[in-house]
Amino acid sequence: MAFSLPPILESAVPSAPLNGDLAGELRLRDGHNRILTDLRLSVTDRCNYKCVYCRTGNDGAQFSELPIADYARILRVFVSLGIEKVRLTGGEPLLRNGLLELVREAAQMRPAFSEAPLDIAITTNGHLLAKLAKPLKDAGLSRITISMDAVDPETFTRITRVPGSFEHVQAGIRAAQDAGLGPIKINCVLLRGFNDTQIEAFAEFSRSEQVIVRFIEFMPLEEDRSWSPETVVPMSEIIARLNAVRPLVALPPNHPSETARRFTFDDGLGEIGIIAPVSEPFCGHCSRVRLTSDGKIRTCLFSQSDHDLIGLMYGGASDDEMSDWIRRIVQHKEARHHIGEPGFLKPSRSMVHIGG
Ligand code: SAM
Repeated sequence: MAFSLPPILESAVPSAPLNGDLAGELRLRDGHNRILTDLRLSVTDRCNYKCVYCRTGNDGAQFSELPIADYARILRVFVSLGIEKVRLTGGEPLLRNGLLELVREAAQMRPAFSEAPLDIAITTNGHLLAKLAKPLKDAGLSRITISMDAVDPETFTRITRVPGSFEHVQAGIRAAQDAGLGPIKINCVLLRGFNDTQIEAFAEFSRSEQVIVRFIEFMPLEEDRSWSPETVVPMSEIIARLNAVRPLVALPPNHPSETARRFTFDDGLGEIGIIAPVSEPFCGHCSRVRLTSDGKIRTCLFSQSDHDLIGLMYGGASDDEMSDWIRRIVQHKEARHHIGEPGFLKPSRSMVHIGG
Protein backbone atom coordinates (compact mmCIF):
# COMPACT_ATOMS: atom_id res chain seq x y z
CA MET A 1 0.00 0.00 0.00
CA ALA A 2 1.46 3.38 -0.95
CA PHE A 3 1.53 6.27 1.49
CA SER A 4 2.08 9.91 0.73
CA LEU A 5 4.59 12.23 2.32
CA PRO A 6 3.86 15.75 3.51
CA PRO A 7 4.16 18.08 0.47
CA ILE A 8 6.95 20.17 2.04
CA LEU A 9 9.35 17.25 1.57
CA GLU A 10 9.33 17.50 -2.19
CA SER A 11 11.00 20.91 -2.13
CA ALA A 12 13.85 19.73 0.13
CA VAL A 13 15.50 17.65 -2.59
CA PRO A 14 17.47 19.53 -5.27
CA SER A 15 15.91 18.84 -8.68
CA ALA A 16 19.29 18.15 -10.31
CA PRO A 17 22.68 17.12 -8.89
CA LEU A 18 25.12 19.95 -8.19
CA ASN A 19 28.64 19.68 -9.50
CA GLY A 20 32.05 21.16 -8.83
CA ASP A 21 33.11 23.47 -6.00
CA LEU A 22 29.61 24.29 -4.85
CA ALA A 23 28.83 20.60 -4.39
CA GLY A 24 32.12 20.16 -2.49
CA GLU A 25 31.15 22.95 -0.09
CA LEU A 26 27.68 21.58 0.51
CA ARG A 27 28.62 17.96 1.16
CA LEU A 28 27.78 16.53 4.56
CA ARG A 29 31.15 16.65 6.30
CA ASP A 30 32.23 15.83 9.83
CA GLY A 31 34.73 17.78 11.91
CA HIS A 32 37.56 15.57 10.60
CA ASN A 33 36.75 16.48 7.00
CA ARG A 34 35.29 13.07 6.18
CA ILE A 35 32.38 13.23 3.71
CA LEU A 36 29.41 11.22 4.94
CA THR A 37 27.63 9.29 2.19
CA ASP A 38 26.32 6.23 4.00
CA LEU A 39 23.28 6.04 6.30
CA ARG A 40 22.52 2.97 8.42
CA LEU A 41 18.82 3.17 9.13
CA SER A 42 17.40 0.85 11.76
CA VAL A 43 13.69 0.20 11.18
CA THR A 44 13.11 -1.91 14.28
CA ASP A 45 14.99 -3.14 17.32
CA ARG A 46 12.97 -6.37 17.41
CA CYS A 47 14.73 -9.54 16.31
CA ASN A 48 13.55 -13.12 15.80
CA TYR A 49 17.03 -14.53 16.57
CA LYS A 50 18.91 -14.48 19.85
CA CYS A 51 22.45 -14.73 18.55
CA VAL A 52 24.76 -15.49 21.44
CA TYR A 53 27.20 -12.71 20.55
CA CYS A 54 24.47 -10.08 20.24
CA ARG A 55 21.57 -10.68 22.62
CA THR A 56 21.11 -11.98 26.14
CA GLY A 57 18.35 -14.36 25.06
CA ASN A 58 15.96 -12.88 27.62
CA ASP A 59 12.57 -11.91 26.32
CA GLY A 60 10.49 -9.01 27.58
CA ALA A 61 12.67 -6.16 26.35
CA GLN A 62 11.05 -2.84 25.43
CA PHE A 63 10.95 -2.14 21.70
CA SER A 64 10.76 1.10 19.91
CA GLU A 65 9.94 1.90 16.28
CA LEU A 66 8.78 4.92 14.30
CA PRO A 67 6.02 4.97 11.68
CA ILE A 68 7.44 4.08 8.26
CA ALA A 69 6.49 7.52 6.90
CA ASP A 70 8.79 9.12 9.51
CA TYR A 71 11.75 6.99 8.46
CA ALA A 72 10.98 7.95 4.86
CA ARG A 73 10.95 11.65 5.69
CA ILE A 74 14.23 11.42 7.61
CA LEU A 75 15.82 9.43 4.80
CA ARG A 76 14.71 12.04 2.29
CA VAL A 77 16.37 14.77 4.35
CA PHE A 78 19.61 12.78 4.51
CA VAL A 79 19.49 12.11 0.76
CA SER A 80 19.10 15.85 0.18
CA LEU A 81 22.35 16.24 2.15
CA GLY A 82 24.24 13.87 -0.13
CA ILE A 83 23.68 10.44 1.39
CA GLU A 84 24.20 8.03 -1.52
CA LYS A 85 23.69 4.70 0.16
CA VAL A 86 21.17 3.60 2.76
CA ARG A 87 21.40 0.29 4.55
CA LEU A 88 18.15 -0.79 6.20
CA THR A 89 18.88 -2.78 9.29
CA GLY A 90 17.73 -3.49 12.83
CA GLY A 91 17.01 -5.60 14.92
CA GLU A 92 15.65 -7.70 12.07
CA PRO A 93 14.37 -5.40 9.30
CA LEU A 94 12.30 -8.11 7.60
CA LEU A 95 10.06 -8.21 10.67
CA ARG A 96 9.00 -4.67 9.96
CA ASN A 97 5.57 -3.99 8.44
CA GLY A 98 5.85 -1.37 5.75
CA LEU A 99 9.41 -2.29 4.75
CA LEU A 100 8.43 -2.73 1.09
CA GLU A 101 6.77 0.69 1.05
CA LEU A 102 9.92 2.23 2.51
CA VAL A 103 12.10 0.58 -0.16
CA ARG A 104 9.69 1.72 -2.86
CA GLU A 105 9.79 5.26 -1.52
CA ALA A 106 13.59 5.20 -1.22
CA ALA A 107 13.90 4.02 -4.82
CA GLN A 108 12.32 7.32 -5.92
CA MET A 109 14.92 9.44 -4.09
CA ARG A 110 17.90 10.97 -5.89
CA PRO A 111 21.10 11.75 -3.95
CA ALA A 112 21.91 15.47 -4.04
CA PHE A 113 25.45 15.29 -5.46
CA SER A 114 25.39 12.17 -7.59
CA GLU A 115 23.96 11.14 -10.92
CA ALA A 116 23.46 7.61 -9.63
CA PRO A 117 20.24 6.47 -7.98
CA LEU A 118 20.18 5.90 -4.22
CA ASP A 119 21.88 2.61 -3.41
CA ILE A 120 19.46 0.67 -1.19
CA ALA A 121 20.82 -2.28 0.79
CA ILE A 122 19.45 -4.45 3.58
CA THR A 123 21.23 -6.48 6.23
CA THR A 124 19.05 -9.37 7.37
CA ASN A 125 19.34 -12.68 9.14
CA GLY A 126 17.48 -14.14 6.13
CA HIS A 127 14.88 -16.03 8.17
CA LEU A 128 11.94 -14.43 6.33
CA LEU A 129 13.71 -13.84 3.04
CA ALA A 130 12.30 -16.77 1.03
CA LYS A 131 8.99 -14.92 0.71
CA LEU A 132 10.34 -11.38 0.65
CA ALA A 133 13.35 -11.51 -1.70
CA LYS A 134 11.40 -11.00 -4.91
CA PRO A 135 9.02 -8.32 -3.55
CA LEU A 136 12.06 -6.45 -2.17
CA LYS A 137 13.84 -6.63 -5.51
CA ASP A 138 10.68 -5.48 -7.30
CA ALA A 139 10.36 -2.60 -4.82
CA GLY A 140 13.82 -1.36 -5.81
CA LEU A 141 16.28 -3.00 -3.40
CA SER A 142 19.80 -2.84 -4.86
CA ARG A 143 21.54 -5.51 -2.82
CA ILE A 144 21.39 -7.68 0.25
CA THR A 145 23.69 -8.90 3.01
CA ILE A 146 22.65 -12.02 4.87
CA SER A 147 24.11 -12.84 8.27
CA MET A 148 25.08 -16.47 8.63
CA ASP A 149 27.57 -17.46 11.29
CA ALA A 150 28.10 -21.15 10.46
CA VAL A 151 27.75 -23.53 7.51
CA ASP A 152 27.15 -26.41 9.87
CA PRO A 153 23.44 -26.48 10.89
CA GLU A 154 24.11 -27.52 14.49
CA THR A 155 26.66 -24.81 15.13
CA PHE A 156 24.36 -22.33 13.42
CA THR A 157 21.42 -23.19 15.71
CA ARG A 158 23.67 -23.04 18.78
CA ILE A 159 24.41 -19.42 17.79
CA THR A 160 20.93 -18.24 16.75
CA ARG A 161 19.15 -20.21 19.49
CA VAL A 162 16.23 -20.77 17.07
CA PRO A 163 15.54 -24.37 15.91
CA GLY A 164 15.17 -24.71 12.14
CA SER A 165 16.87 -21.37 11.49
CA PHE A 166 19.55 -22.85 9.22
CA GLU A 167 17.02 -24.20 6.70
CA HIS A 168 15.17 -20.88 6.64
CA VAL A 169 18.36 -18.96 5.90
CA GLN A 170 19.43 -21.36 3.12
CA ALA A 171 16.01 -20.95 1.49
CA GLY A 172 16.40 -17.18 1.88
CA ILE A 173 19.80 -17.19 0.14
CA ARG A 174 18.41 -19.23 -2.76
CA ALA A 175 15.39 -16.92 -3.08
CA ALA A 176 17.63 -13.83 -3.10
CA GLN A 177 19.78 -15.38 -5.83
CA ASP A 178 16.69 -16.31 -7.87
CA ALA A 179 15.33 -12.77 -7.44
CA GLY A 180 18.51 -11.32 -8.99
CA LEU A 181 19.86 -9.76 -5.79
CA GLY A 182 23.29 -11.30 -6.29
CA PRO A 183 26.16 -11.20 -5.71
CA ILE A 184 24.98 -11.86 -2.18
CA LYS A 185 27.17 -11.01 0.76
CA ILE A 186 27.19 -13.40 3.69
CA ASN A 187 28.33 -11.86 6.99
CA CYS A 188 29.94 -14.15 9.54
CA VAL A 189 30.96 -12.82 12.95
CA LEU A 190 33.70 -15.10 14.24
CA LEU A 191 33.74 -15.97 17.93
CA ARG A 192 36.57 -17.90 19.46
CA GLY A 193 35.28 -21.23 20.74
CA PHE A 194 31.91 -20.93 18.99
CA ASN A 195 32.33 -20.87 15.22
CA ASP A 196 36.04 -20.36 14.51
CA THR A 197 36.05 -23.97 13.27
CA GLN A 198 33.95 -22.80 10.30
CA ILE A 199 36.51 -20.66 8.45
CA GLU A 200 37.63 -23.35 5.98
CA ALA A 201 34.07 -24.54 5.33
CA PHE A 202 33.03 -20.96 4.57
CA ALA A 203 35.81 -20.76 1.97
CA GLU A 204 34.21 -23.76 0.22
CA PHE A 205 30.75 -22.24 0.63
CA SER A 206 31.84 -19.04 -1.11
CA ARG A 207 33.35 -21.03 -3.96
CA SER A 208 30.45 -23.44 -4.47
CA GLU A 209 27.53 -21.03 -3.88
CA GLN A 210 28.99 -17.96 -5.64
CA VAL A 211 28.45 -15.74 -2.62
CA ILE A 212 30.82 -13.22 -1.07
CA VAL A 213 31.67 -14.41 2.43
CA ARG A 214 32.71 -11.66 4.81
CA PHE A 215 34.29 -12.49 8.13
CA ILE A 216 33.78 -9.83 10.79
CA GLU A 217 35.80 -9.45 13.96
CA PHE A 218 33.62 -9.55 17.05
CA MET A 219 33.20 -6.06 18.57
CA PRO A 220 32.15 -5.12 22.11
CA LEU A 221 28.55 -4.30 21.18
CA GLU A 222 26.73 -7.24 22.74
CA GLU A 223 23.92 -7.00 25.29
CA ASP A 224 25.46 -9.28 27.88
CA ARG A 225 28.96 -7.77 27.84
CA SER A 226 30.79 -11.04 27.14
CA TRP A 227 33.41 -9.50 24.82
CA SER A 228 37.08 -9.76 25.68
CA PRO A 229 40.14 -9.52 23.40
CA GLU A 230 40.47 -13.33 23.61
CA THR A 231 37.05 -13.82 21.97
CA VAL A 232 38.18 -12.02 18.79
CA VAL A 233 39.54 -14.07 15.87
CA PRO A 234 41.89 -11.56 14.25
CA MET A 235 42.29 -10.90 10.54
CA SER A 236 45.85 -12.31 10.53
CA GLU A 237 44.59 -15.72 11.70
CA ILE A 238 41.69 -15.74 9.22
CA ILE A 239 44.06 -15.00 6.34
CA ALA A 240 46.53 -17.69 7.43
CA ARG A 241 43.82 -20.32 7.64
CA LEU A 242 42.24 -19.41 4.30
CA ASN A 243 45.66 -19.49 2.67
CA ALA A 244 46.01 -23.07 3.84
CA VAL A 245 42.79 -23.95 1.95
CA ARG A 246 44.16 -22.38 -1.26
CA PRO A 247 46.46 -19.43 -1.83
CA LEU A 248 44.60 -16.13 -1.44
CA VAL A 249 44.92 -13.30 -3.95
CA ALA A 250 44.15 -9.72 -2.83
CA LEU A 251 41.48 -7.80 -4.75
CA PRO A 252 41.39 -3.99 -5.00
CA PRO A 253 38.83 -2.12 -2.87
CA ASN A 254 35.59 -1.22 -4.64
CA HIS A 255 35.77 2.30 -3.18
CA PRO A 256 38.00 4.21 -0.70
CA SER A 257 35.71 3.81 2.32
CA GLU A 258 35.24 0.05 1.83
CA THR A 259 35.41 -1.65 5.22
CA ALA A 260 36.36 -5.11 3.93
CA ARG A 261 39.77 -6.25 2.71
CA ARG A 262 38.88 -8.35 -0.34
CA PHE A 263 40.40 -11.59 -1.58
CA THR A 264 39.78 -14.35 -4.04
CA PHE A 265 41.64 -17.65 -4.39
CA ASP A 266 44.39 -18.37 -6.90
CA ASP A 267 41.95 -19.99 -9.34
CA GLY A 268 39.64 -16.95 -9.24
CA LEU A 269 36.80 -18.88 -7.65
CA GLY A 270 35.05 -17.45 -4.57
CA GLU A 271 35.33 -14.08 -2.86
CA ILE A 272 36.21 -13.39 0.75
CA GLY A 273 36.02 -10.09 2.61
CA ILE A 274 37.57 -9.56 6.01
CA ILE A 275 36.27 -6.73 8.16
CA ALA A 276 38.71 -6.09 10.99
CA PRO A 277 37.50 -3.14 13.07
CA VAL A 278 39.37 -4.45 16.11
CA SER A 279 42.79 -5.46 14.77
CA GLU A 280 42.92 -3.04 11.80
CA PRO A 281 40.46 -0.18 12.34
CA PHE A 282 39.32 1.81 9.31
CA CYS A 283 37.82 4.82 11.12
CA GLY A 284 39.91 7.26 9.08
CA HIS A 285 37.76 6.43 6.04
CA CYS A 286 34.44 6.21 7.86
CA SER A 287 31.61 7.64 5.77
CA ARG A 288 28.77 6.42 7.99
CA VAL A 289 26.11 7.92 10.18
CA ARG A 290 23.36 5.95 11.91
CA LEU A 291 19.73 6.41 12.79
CA THR A 292 18.41 4.17 15.59
CA SER A 293 14.92 2.70 15.31
CA ASP A 294 13.69 5.29 17.83
CA GLY A 295 14.89 8.14 15.64
CA LYS A 296 18.18 9.12 17.27
CA ILE A 297 21.36 9.89 15.35
CA ARG A 298 24.50 8.05 16.35
CA THR A 299 27.68 9.32 14.80
CA CYS A 300 29.66 6.16 15.65
CA LEU A 301 28.88 2.58 16.70
CA PHE A 302 30.81 3.37 19.86
CA SER A 303 29.19 6.72 20.68
CA GLN A 304 28.36 7.36 24.30
CA SER A 305 25.26 9.38 23.43
CA ASP A 306 22.50 9.82 20.83
CA HIS A 307 21.14 12.94 19.18
CA ASP A 308 17.39 13.32 19.23
CA LEU A 309 16.44 13.97 15.62
CA ILE A 310 12.92 12.64 16.05
CA GLY A 311 12.34 14.99 18.99
CA LEU A 312 13.29 17.88 16.74
CA MET A 313 11.04 16.60 13.95
CA TYR A 314 8.05 16.00 16.22
CA GLY A 315 8.63 19.49 17.64
CA GLY A 316 7.70 20.84 14.21
CA ALA A 317 11.11 21.39 12.56
CA SER A 318 11.06 21.91 8.82
CA ASP A 319 13.26 19.79 6.54
CA ASP A 320 15.71 22.67 6.23
CA GLU A 321 15.92 22.99 10.00
CA MET A 322 16.51 19.25 10.30
CA SER A 323 19.25 19.48 7.65
CA ASP A 324 21.01 22.33 9.46
CA TRP A 325 20.83 20.48 12.74
CA ILE A 326 22.22 17.27 11.17
CA ARG A 327 25.13 19.24 9.71
CA ARG A 328 25.95 20.58 13.17
CA ILE A 329 25.62 17.19 14.88
CA VAL A 330 27.93 15.34 12.49
CA GLN A 331 30.64 17.92 13.18
CA HIS A 332 31.10 16.04 16.43
CA LYS A 333 31.52 12.60 14.86
CA GLU A 334 34.16 10.69 16.77
CA ALA A 335 37.60 10.50 15.13
CA ARG A 336 37.85 6.79 15.88
CA HIS A 337 36.86 4.05 18.30
CA HIS A 338 39.08 3.04 21.20
CA ILE A 339 38.44 -0.72 21.40
CA GLY A 340 41.17 -2.49 23.34
CA GLU A 341 42.70 0.72 24.72
CA PRO A 342 42.93 1.41 28.44
CA GLY A 343 39.81 3.25 29.63
CA PHE A 344 37.70 2.05 26.65
CA LEU A 345 34.03 2.56 27.44
CA LYS A 346 31.51 0.22 25.87
CA PRO A 347 28.86 2.13 23.90
CA SER A 348 25.74 3.27 25.69
CA ARG A 349 23.57 0.92 23.56
CA SER A 350 24.08 -2.57 22.15
CA MET A 351 24.15 -3.54 18.45
CA VAL A 352 20.55 -4.71 18.29
CA HIS A 353 19.40 -1.28 19.53
CA ILE A 354 21.83 0.78 17.47
CA GLY A 355 21.30 -1.07 14.18
CA GLY A 356 24.17 -3.04 12.62
N1 SAM B 1 19.17 -8.82 12.06
C1 SAM B 1 19.97 -8.44 10.96
C2 SAM B 1 21.09 -9.43 10.74
O1 SAM B 1 21.15 -10.42 11.42
O2 SAM B 1 21.90 -9.20 9.83
C3 SAM B 1 20.50 -7.02 11.02
C4 SAM B 1 21.00 -6.50 12.31
S1 SAM B 1 22.49 -7.25 12.87
C5 SAM B 1 22.73 -6.35 14.34
C6 SAM B 1 23.66 -6.62 11.71
C7 SAM B 1 25.00 -7.29 11.67
O3 SAM B 1 25.70 -6.98 12.84
C8 SAM B 1 24.94 -8.80 11.57
O4 SAM B 1 25.74 -9.22 10.49
C9 SAM B 1 25.54 -9.24 12.88
O5 SAM B 1 26.21 -10.45 12.74
C10 SAM B 1 26.47 -8.09 13.20
N2 SAM B 1 26.82 -8.00 14.62
C11 SAM B 1 25.99 -8.04 15.68
N3 SAM B 1 26.68 -7.91 16.83
C12 SAM B 1 27.98 -7.79 16.49
C13 SAM B 1 29.18 -7.65 17.23
N4 SAM B 1 29.18 -7.58 18.56
N5 SAM B 1 30.35 -7.55 16.56
C14 SAM B 1 30.36 -7.61 15.20
N6 SAM B 1 29.26 -7.74 14.44
C15 SAM B 1 28.08 -7.85 15.07
